[in-house]
Amino acid sequence: MNDCIFCKIVSGDLPSYKLYEDDDVLAFLDIAPVHPGHILVIPKKHFKNFEEVPEDTLCKLIKVVKKLGLALKNGMGYEAYNIGENNDPLAGQIVPHLHFHIIPRKENDGLQLWPQKEYAEGEAQEVIEKIKKFL
Ligand code: AMP
Repeated sequence: MNDCIFCKIVSGDLPSYKLYEDDDVLAFLDIAPVHPGHILVIPKKHFKNFEEVPEDTLCKLIKVVKKLGLALKNGMGYEAYNIGENNDPLAGQIVPHLHFHIIPRKENDGLQLWPQKEYAEGEAQEVIEKIKKFL
């Protein structure tokens, strides 16, 4: 896509700190890391979100996420990381080109994940039924 910053990184029109590249996948450092070594893994082809990406490409992406997660631990001495994908703007997706974040974690780093609630009586079963209709 012409105006997509990640497509411009793929084409070389924008610079990046590349970590890994093959025919289908590119990984580079997030420009504004949670901690040094925060990595983004993207398909070279433009897909807006998780639903758009074909399964074979998704498999290639997730294999690279796994490889880089291990290298991140070994290379940078991190004990843990989160894998994240903000799917659509309401979920915090700013760049509309599918990408997985590999976010290194440190003890007491203050990164909050999500607040949790409880289900009301019968609500979980209703939720199951609504979702299962579309499987
Ligand atoms: P998201 O909110 O999931 O769309 O995250 C987009 C991420 O892309 C953010 O963490 C940004 O810091 C990162 N980002 C934006 N522009 C660049 C860039 N030119 N190079 C590397 N990372 C970038």
